[in-house]
Amino acid sequence: MLLRSVLASAVVVGALLSTSAAAQDAVSPEGALKAQIAAYAQPSNAERLNVLLGQLRAAGFEPSVETFAGGGRATPLQGSNVVVTIGDGAKEILLTAHYDAVRLRDGTLSQGVVDNAGSVVAVIEAAKALRGRPLTHRVRVIFFDQEELGLVGARKWIEAHGIADVAAVVNSDVAAYGDTMMYGQNNGPQSAFVTRAVQELCAERAMQCVGFPVYPPSDDRAFSAAGAPVVSLGFQDEIGAHQMWLAFNGGDDNGLAEGFTPKVFRLIHSADDAVDQVEGATIAAAGATYAALIEKLDAGLR
Ligand SMILES: [Zn+2]
Repeated sequence: MLLRSVLASAVVVGALLSTSAAAQDAVSPEGALKAQIAAYAQPSNAERLNVLLGQLRAAGFEPSVETFAGGGRATPLQGSNVVVTIGDGAKEILLTAHYDAVRLRDGTLSQGVVDNAGSVVAVIEAAKALRGRPLTHRVRVIFFDQEELGLVGARKWIEAHGIADVAAVVNSDVAAYGDTMMYGQNNGPQSAFVTRAVQELCAERAMQCVGFPVYPPSDDRAFSAAGAPVVSLGFQDEIGAHQMWLAFNGGDDNGLAEGFTPKVFRLIHSADDAVDQVEGATIAAAGATYAALIEKLDAGLR
């Protein structure tokens, strides 16, 4: 009892100290974004879903939840995609990010910050920026569940809605730190105009961008498999982006040290994928860039 109350007061003091530090940090817009990302560190994906819905409602959106029968091969598991719709054109541009986190080997859920709460918050920022803009397309912002179980949420969304009205898809996975935007170029010839729009945007904004002929898979692959034009984007530091390029595209002569793993692949799907890895400035930049890309696609597809 006594021990417990001593522990409890220690916890309270600790909480007060960390709250005041966090509160100071949260005064800046970048600190606020970081705090928003930190909220996704939860014991279950159901709780991550609630955090997402709370943040969307706080931002003034009315998210709809589309449940589906998903799960892995052996274990059925209901999933929940979350959708926010902006504008009312006949054709759609999708802006997507998965909000689920992977289960680690010890049975706990990854904090899922770099993969992929950073993208989730960046996409919410983009949605806020796009709201009220004169768009000719309907923009459907989709937060997918069960990406980590094999792109299940994205596949189920395509199954339910089809892609006949989908003009383009922009997906974000692993956006957390640094100033370099990565984009995949391996989503089929139908996606060439989307990657070209990315390249134009990088030039216009004088951004450091790295195109990957081979880029690791995310929910984008569910869309390219269905024939939709799609690009997958991510953010990290410049060195890391180039190391990752070499790891995926450099072949046997990539020049990386024997056994070298780029930092981002040491972080994700590990206990180290935590909020101290995030830079608020990256999330703000990612949100603004995604919104600008959607506007460019909207104008170009007119
Ligand atoms: Zn991911």
